[in-house]
Amino acid sequence: MQQPPVYLDYNATTPCDPRVLEVMLPFFTRHFGNAASRNHAFGWAAEGAVDHARQQVAALIGADAQEIIFTSGATEAANLGIKGLFEAYAGKGNHIITAETEHKAVLDTLGHLEKQGASVTRLKVNASGLISPDELEAAITAETILIAIMYANNETGVIQPMADISRIAQEKGVILFTDGTQAVGKIPLNVQQEGIGMMAFSAHKLYGPKGVGALYIRRRGPRVKIIAQMDGGGHERGMRSGTLNVPAIAGFGKACELAAAEMAAITQRLSAMRDRLESTILAREHATVNGSGAPRLPHVTNIAFHGMQGDALLRAISRQIAVSSGSACTSANPEPSHVLLAMGVEDELARSSLRFALGRYTTDAEIDFAIAAVDNTIREFNEILK
Ligand SMILES: *Cc1c(COP(=O)(O)O)cnc(C)c1O
Repeated sequence: MQQPPVYLDYNATTPCDPRVLEVMLPFFTRHFGNAASRNHAFGWAAEGAVDHARQQVAALIGADAQEIIFTSGATEAANLGIKGLFEAYAGKGNHIITAETEHKAVLDTLGHLEKQGASVTRLKVNASGLISPDELEAAITAETILIAIMYANNETGVIQPMADISRIAQEKGVILFTDGTQAVGKIPLNVQQEGIGMMAFSAHKLYGPKGVGALYIRRRGPRVKIIAQMDGGGHERGMRSGTLNVPAIAGFGKACELAAAEMAAITQRLSAMRDRLESTILAREHATVNGSGAPRLPHVTNIAFHGMQGDALLRAISRQIAVSSGSACTSANPEPSHVLLAMGVEDELARSSLRFALGRYTTDAEIDFAIAAVDNTIREFNEILK
């Protein structure tokens, strides 16, 4: 019987932690109430669970509970935050600054706004995947209402210079939105101290359930305003109507509590495993690490395999290890990663780059297995090429 592949695609999604699932289960059956039912005990139990989760989520990122709006995930949170702000600040300006390496949730949202009159500047990145704070500062005009720069990149793990970005945003009085989906729960992050105005993130990237996430919106210093994008019953203080997904929200809260408690220990373990995977592959193969010159998330490595045929490599290796290429896998004819291309990686090499993302359940034995899988696959390819 064929063994299932070893999972090294934790940036795509993570399994639900069993401790998270356990917290969720009663809210499907016994405590099934609607959190908006204010006049009976069923509603109160659900509302209590949501309040508790809101505290847990806020605590992980250094926010107040009232600054958290629950959504269906990071995509919705990015749409709500960016479109909602564009509408709310229409009287002030129409210019938004972002980077070429953002996730589609941000890039496509901004593309949509361009059709509605937004002017969008897409900052280039250097070979390591970093934007230049000087270029950011120079791009700001009197019309600039928003800077949208992700905290850490999903494909490369590259962490942007958020302290500089935030300082510039504050000096110029421009609101800073960050897609924190890959950073939250993985590295220490404090929205209050770091001057972040809005942040989108998602439960399923941090061992919570799929279909729930949050938008953090700063309430003071300065207060950030948005216009709701979903009309209805006025849930989430009118910012996101629709009956709350109580089981998922309770699980999201637990996932955040666990992330805060275990982050330091897990980071230490995973960075050692990541470094071993990376250095062994680099020693054995003709390979380079995309983003190696930048600060990176401790559990991610994006490796370019030189002289390989990208899609064939991915297909062969996927039988043994579940990894990903940055390409848009939704299309029949996969495009090379827009993130790697923006970093100046050439087309062929971008296609033969693989992302290895480790996670909470990754073991040393799995890393051994992954190293051997890469080795064997590449040796087979080279045999064929001879
Ligand atoms: C996964 C991801 C998203 C989308 O999150 P969903 O909750 O699945 O909508 C957005 N941005 C980044 C950086 C991601 O990794």
